Amino acid sequence: MLIRTKIIATVGPACGERDVLRRMVQAGCDVFRVNFSHGDDEQRERFLTDIRAVERELDQPLAVMADLCGPKIRVGPIAGGSVLLAEGQRVVIQREPLEGRADRISTTLAELVDCVAPGDAVLLDDGRLRLVVEETDPPDEVRCRVVHGGVLAVGKGVNLPDTKLNIPAMTEKDHHDAAWIAERDFDYVALSFVQSGDDVLLLKSILGDSGSDAHVVAKIEKPQALADIEQIVRTADAIMVARGDLGVEMDLPAVPMAQKRIAGLCRRSGKPCIIATQMLESMTHASQPTRAEVSDVANAVLDHTDAVMLSGETAIGEYPAETVAMMDGIVRRTEEYHDETAEPVRVTYAPARTTAALAGAVGEIISREEIAAVAVFTATGTTARVMSKNRPPVPILALCPDERAVRRMRLYYGVQPMRADAPEHTRDVLAMAEDFALSIGAAERGQKLLVLSGRPIDQPGRTNTLVVHTIE
Ligand code: PEP
Repeated sequence: MLIRTKIIATVGPACGERDVLRRMVQAGCDVFRVNFSHGDDEQRERFLTDIRAVERELDQPLAVMADLCGPKIRVGPIAGGSVLLAEGQRVVIQREPLEGRADRISTTLAELVDCVAPGDAVLLDDGRLRLVVEETDPPDEVRCRVVHGGVLAVGKGVNLPDTKLNIPAMTEKDHHDAAWIAERDFDYVALSFVQSGDDVLLLKSILGDSGSDAHVVAKIEKPQALADIEQIVRTADAIMVARGDLGVEMDLPAVPMAQKRIAGLCRRSGKPCIIATQMLESMTHASQPTRAEVSDVANAVLDHTDAVMLSGETAIGEYPAETVAMMDGIVRRTEEYHDETAEPVRVTYAPARTTAALAGAVGEIISREEIAAVAVFTATGTTARVMSKNRPPVPILALCPDERAVRRMRLYYGVQPMRADAPEHTRDVLAMAEDFALSIGAAERGQKLLVLSGRPIDQPGRTNTLVVHTIE
């Protein structure tokens, strides 16, 4: 039986061979992430070509997510490559780039000096070093005190958890990358360091203007995003809890509760949620994860996430396919437990109210009758997404004429998508649903399916028919 929580794997040098990608899909990978923080266009093109080749070879739709860098700030040049910043000493961050020294450094964001205020924290190297801003005058530099010292190397990340950055949500590189992505076959585009719903709308309009229908994933990795989370969930097509940078930007012990809050909001709002970063980190170099990592994956499933994500584990790890298989195994065991204990959910979001009502009816019928699977004929994937948010304990088989929507549905919890042309009559959907369910072993003869479709068929927002159908 297929698991319902989806698995995203990041590609990188460890999956340069097509055979590795194939084994990852066979182990349970549904979505590949191409991270634009690393590599170049040529490598990314190769990954995309290889993934599409594996998709054809295995005859399985696969979603591909491009992940834009966003305004990630980094430490500028440092004389000799690194320098020791001692606790208690003063260090100046200046606007103009320079060969950094122990008392003066620069960053890749010239505007940093305009945005921070006295008392703001400046975190360096994933928070290993901590500075506090003391003075912001003269205007071209900020004077800081080192609170936690250490060795600072060129190019390390800079995080400003207390500062609302008045800078564009997308850098020049993001604009170049978005244009490149829009010309290619990507299904999702993730935006890093989102601060508001407007950031999401900006990327959506850029993609739309370039003729791309890729869906936008908002990465939640700043406290400012948490403050505007309802608006971001409303505007984005999916949400990623990017715990790497989020754990630097906010109080680390509060990250698990932020994860639960975001996952709950996504579930009530009908939007897919992705939990990311360090899920099976130790498997980058070991064939077994730690016990705590296994619990982390299981907890993400119990939080009702749609997908769990692997980063370095598959991009640069020694065991990419084995890590996917391990994640699949943890998810499987957790879902078995969850089916016995989870409460039904009520979906509050749906573009058409009828769809939400039908989702409620599906839950009600499943709680009273033995149902093998839910089948939907969906023009855009929306009905499948809304059904998925009710978390029925059976597969949702989604028949859809649009290949792009089929691929996108690989991200949705519990949804098994398949491309199918719209039949002439709505009643023909029953035979299509039967064939699909039998072909993937989701149901046997004599079992019942719940079949949803619209009249007229193949028109978005028209799902209005629910049939309890016994496979003869
Ligand atoms: C993260 O910070 O958790 C994340 C997913 O983003 P990236 O891998 O791009 O750093």
